[in-house]
Amino acid sequence: MAKKRVAIIGGGSSGLCAIKSCLDEGMEPVCFERTNDIGGLWRFEEDPEEGRASIYKSVIINTSKEMMCFSDFPIPDDFPNYMHNLKIMEYFRMYAKHFDLLNYIHFKTSVCHVTRRPDFSATGQWDVVTETDGKQESSIFDGILVCSGHHTFAHLPLHTFPGIEKFRGRYLHSREYKNPQEFSDKKVIVIGIGNSGGDLAVEISYTAKQVFLSTRRGAWILNRVGDEGYPMDIVLSSRLNAVLKEFLTTSMVNKWAEQRLNARFSHSHYGLQPTHRILSQHPTVNDDLPNRIISGRVLVKPNVSEFTETAAIFEDGTKEDNIDVVVFATGYSFSFPFLESCVKVVDNQISLYKFVFPPHLEKPTLAFIGLVQPLGAIMPISELQCRWATRVFKGLNSLPSMSDMIADITQKKEEMTKRYVKSQRHTIQVDFVQYMDEIASLTGVKPNLLSLFLTDPKLAMEVFFGPCTPYQYRLRGPGKWDGARRAILTQKERIIKPMKTRSIEDSISYSSVPFLLKIVCGVVLFAVILAYF
Ligand code: FAD
Ligand code: NAP
Repeated sequence: MAKKRVAIIGGGSSGLCAIKSCLDEGMEPVCFERTNDIGGLWRFEEDPEEGRASIYKSVIINTSKEMMCFSDFPIPDDFPNYMHNLKIMEYFRMYAKHFDLLNYIHFKTSVCHVTRRPDFSATGQWDVVTETDGKQESSIFDGILVCSGHHTFAHLPLHTFPGIEKFRGRYLHSREYKNPQEFSDKKVIVIGIGNSGGDLAVEISYTAKQVFLSTRRGAWILNRVGDEGYPMDIVLSSRLNAVLKEFLTTSMVNKWAEQRLNARFSHSHYGLQPTHRILSQHPTVNDDLPNRIISGRVLVKPNVSEFTETAAIFEDGTKEDNIDVVVFATGYSFSFPFLESCVKVVDNQISLYKFVFPPHLEKPTLAFIGLVQPLGAIMPISELQCRWATRVFKGLNSLPSMSDMIADITQKKEEMTKRYVKSQRHTIQVDFVQYMDEIASLTGVKPNLLSLFLTDPKLAMEVFFGPCTPYQYRLRGPGKWDGARRAILTQKERIIKPMKTRSIEDSISYSSVPFLLKIVCGVVLFAVILAYF
């Protein structure tokens, strides 16, 4: 039988693992990347191409290396836990080289239109029109993996800022911000307290005359550096925590987390305290922001109610004059102009089963990859989605009926609306462990804790109590990787290695569970597993 041909739109991190998944499933991937290189958002350029996401020069990722790696390709042990964008690119290049992915990418080729073929209901095939050097071409594909990213189109809500049209200073969206030099000695307002707003306020504040960080509802600020100096996501993203969350009320989890953050600095004293609870907003991670606030280099302000030619008037009636620059760090919108005939995006909302499959197609041959906003890293999620989607394309896994898919989508939307504050940034939120497990169950690769505990208790302990690293989804089922066990049992070593640049006699073991606790934990684990299944 002829191999199925799959078109992959985009050569960022999602596109790379899409190519690999197709190859693993014996399909023929053809990846179209509109620029001349891989990496998508993570490839910094001063002057990025239209249609590609763009970052600032200093961006350091806020998901740590063991949590963000592809599941069968650990990030080298000497790479830092939180990588600068150059290092991230180095890793992606290693991945592409190791699995020989570059040969499948058509660079400088944009996908212009994707439409169902007339016989779609029988074949599930697509017509894909691409453009290279101004020349258009049409080809037929058996499946489409959309990997075009969701941080490309700036969300610039100028209509909510009266007077901005008469403001004589400069204003820009955070997408255009590259480095702080041009803001030296200026009075700058940064609007928005997502991760872009936090990072930019901090960086600009080192050389600007004054930075004002304006937020309409405040935020809880998390650190990259967690307990004992471990990466915060390593500390938080364990199966144990996921189980505890099932047993505790949301209010209890909120209280515990807020108390811990307030113990570091009082969010109320620092003007950051929101009225919503911590789990109701996408987290802002910033270790430096409190330092810049306590030293007065960043002043936290409420939302801007009006701009004049030279000033900003805030909602509390205060006014700051002689403002030079306003940076709108107000987030992004997503859209898929090449797929307009097939899917609708309204108010940054799209209806997809498990955030991957449109429910209304006669054949499940179109999948969206990486179109989630996780409390965690996107890369392993994209990878697992690709593993699932390619198996659905091949008919090895099937989707439920349209009505069941729509019911699931509706339920997820309702849960999101209930949990998160209303904002255009909260339409594709997922929790890392829970979502990974959900997709893994559908693919047959969710680790079986009970059998692990009985056959390999040492590994079971790390899988349950340690961080839920992507290798866990390579322990069994399709795509099983023989190196997964070792990768899990050595993950702590890879976390510590890059910091050991001055050798010190180590008297403390860095096993994730102290030795004496192990026996007690084993008993508890066994009880929890029994209760859980
Ligand atoms: P992208 O990296 O955006 O790649 C999409 C690719 O598709 C691009 O190369 C583009 O050129 C190509 N493309 C688009 N349309 C077409 C077309 N029509 N034809 C051909 N090619 C096309 N995520 C994390 O997990 N951790 C983080 O800490 C983190 N930090 C972030 C920091 C910033 C400042 C931003 C903005 C986002 C951050 N993200 C983070 C999210 C980020 O989107 C993902 O990390 C990741 O880049 C998603 O990869 P992707 O391949 O899906 O999309
Ligand atoms: P974002 O998370 O969508 O945050 C946008 C901010 O702008 C929010 O504070 C939002 O407030 C505010 N905002 C939006 N519209 C507004 C309006 N009309 N008036 C006032 N305020 C408004 O966008 P982002 O910060 O650019 O982040 C995008 C993604 O990139 C996220 O996934 C983020 O984690 C990631 N990122 C990561 C890093 C890093 O790893 N170092 C750095 C930057 C970004 P509300 O909450 O009230 O809506």
